[in-house]
Order: sequence, then structure tokens, then C-alpha cells
Amino acid sequence: MEFHLKSNIGILEVITGSMFSGKSEELIRRLRRAKYAKQKVIVFKHSIDRRYGEGGIYSHANSSLEAYPVNSVKQMEEIMEKNNDTEVIGIDEIQFFGEKEDVVGFCKKYVEFGKRVIVAGLDMSFRAEPYHPMPELMGIADQVDKFRAICTVCGKPAYASQRLINGKPAYYDDPLVLVGASENYEARCRRHHIVRYRKNNKGKIYFIVGTDIGAGKKSVEKLYSESILKDKKIKTIILSSETEKSENRLSDLRKEIEKELIENDFIFIRIVKGILFPLEGNYTVLDFMCEYRKSSEIILVSRNKKGLLNQVLLTVDILRKSDLNFKEIVYTNRSDIDKEDSEIIEEVCKLTKLSYRVLE
Ligand SMILES: [Zn+2]
Repeated sequence: MEFHLKSNIGILEVITGSMFSGKSEELIRRLRRAKYAKQKVIVFKHSIDRRYGEGGIYSHANSSLEAYPVNSVKQMEEIMEKNNDTEVIGIDEIQFFGEKEDVVGFCKKYVEFGKRVIVAGLDMSFRAEPYHPMPELMGIADQVDKFRAICTVCGKPAYASQRLINGKPAYYDDPLVLVGASENYEARCRRHHIVRYRKNNKGKIYFIVGTDIGAGKKSVEKLYSESILKDKKIKTIILSSETEKSENRLSDLRKEIEKELIENDFIFIRIVKGILFPLEGNYTVLDFMCEYRKSSEIILVSRNKKGLLNQVLLTVDILRKSDLNFKEIVYTNRSDIDKEDSEIIEEVCKLTKLSYRVLE
């Protein structure tokens, strides 16, 4: 059987992104436009994907399109042999074909024959690692469109698909099929996408930030190590923004934190000067804190003194706008100063939605 080659050059279009990013809808849109143009279109989907009926590919707008359910390249080849005059080939959820099937070879071959091949599939696994065969297809494609869903936690553009097992983020090495567990997926941004590890459990960072000089950071660390985190292994690192010049200040600091995170349950990083002071060049303490977004929380320390609460609100606002996480606010009391009314502290608590404690 001969292929009726047309003079036009083939093209490979890749539509990729996380789950819920609208890949299938985009594939359907392109295939439908080709159909309107009276081009012969063939659509494949893996037969494992039975979510939306035997012969349709799903889209949220309920605009499904007839597709051949197949489970191998061989089956696709058989269908192609009976449809030599096909001009456009669509393949949805291409990652379902797995490692063993040479689906990349199939795409290459029909592009060589002058067909327009449009594939849609996941770019990354739930572990946020490149997912076969997308990296190779993206490399050889004429056109790549990467779509993004919206993070279900914060509403920012999503990055990868979060796998949840019984409502909790899955572990890296969780098997792909878990019997008897309820499992679902959500789109998540880089901050909210979490892959858990069973081994090498790392410690957690608490940034100790004060609103003012002499806020009482040391006594808060003492409170934590002596009662709240009793029996935990804790290390304190002092982060001062002194202008003393040392060559690899930032990278030394990162190495130190990395090492201490393995050896300790908790690390307190005490911010000596303000968060907006530079550590190196224009790189501020705040920039540095953002590097540890996922593994850190902030304990904000303020003296319980009249007139300081506005400072608390400002600091919370700046840190929140940098997407950092809070643990709580600790107010430290000193007998010789004017104390703030507890009603106003309550109001700050409501405004910031942060819990607080008063350290006598
Ligand atoms: Zn998010």
C-alpha cells in the first residue's frame, strides 16, 4: 500500500503542561479546526484512559471528539494503513504509551511523511520530573506550547501535578497503584507542590525575625528549645548583615545550613539586622529567606510595647508578599515599658490571622 505524499512538509506540534491545564481542550480545538477545513483527521487515545467513554477524548467544555482507543504503536500503524489519506494525526495523553512503545518513532515517521502530528501529554510526573516521552518530543517538535493550570492552594500559575494519597502529599517512592487508598491529583505552584521523602528526612528552619532591636529573640529561642521543642536537636545560626567582607559569604551560609539541616531536627536562623539589609551586593536577607520558602517558617518577635504594633503589621505584610510562611508572633514583655492593650494585640491577631503568645 502506498502513501499519497503531498508536497507539504510535515509538522510536529506538542501540547504539554500539568493536569488541569487544558491540554486536551487545546488538542480538540486544533483538530476541530482541521476538520472544519475538510482535512482528514485521525485521533488516537490510549485505551487505558477510559474516563470519558470508549471512543471520545475528554474536554471540560464537553466537546469530545471521536478517537480510536489503542494500546500500542502496532495498533496505530494498523489504523494508519487503512487511512493513508490522513492529513492530521492527533494523540492525547501520550504518556500512557509508556517506555516500551516507540511512540516517538511513530510521530517522527508520520511527520516525515508530511503529516501534521499534534500530541498532548504531561510534561512532568507527580514527582515533578520530566515524563517520558515528552522531553524527547519537545526536543524534536516544530512547535511546543506549555500550558499552566492554576494552583488549587493559592491561585497562582501552577507548576506540576500534586499527587495526594488519603489527602496527603504522596511520597517520592509511592507505587503508582495503591490498593485501598483514596487518591487524587491537584495542580500546584512551585511553592505548594510537595514531594515527600521517607529517607533523609531533613530538619525544619525557623527564621527568628524581630521588629526592633532588643525585641527578645534570644529569649524566644530559649522558650522554644526548653519547652516547645524539648528533646529536639536544635542549632542556632546567626545571620547578621554586617558589612564585613568575606569572599563566599552566601555560598558558605548555604553550605552551613545544608549541613545543619541533616544533623538537626530544627535550625533557628536568627536575623540580627533587618530583613531588607543586604547580605551580598543587592541580595538581601529577605531574598535569602525566600530560598528556603518550602522548608521554613517565621517566628516574629516583637516587644509588647505601645506603638510597635504597626511595625508588626508592616513586617507581616512584607514577608507575606514574599510568600513566606509564618509560625506565630511572640510578644516579649519588659516591665519597664508601656505595655500595649491586649485588645489591640487581639486585633493584630485577627488582621494577620496569626496566632500569638506573650512571653512574660
Ligand atoms: Zn500555590
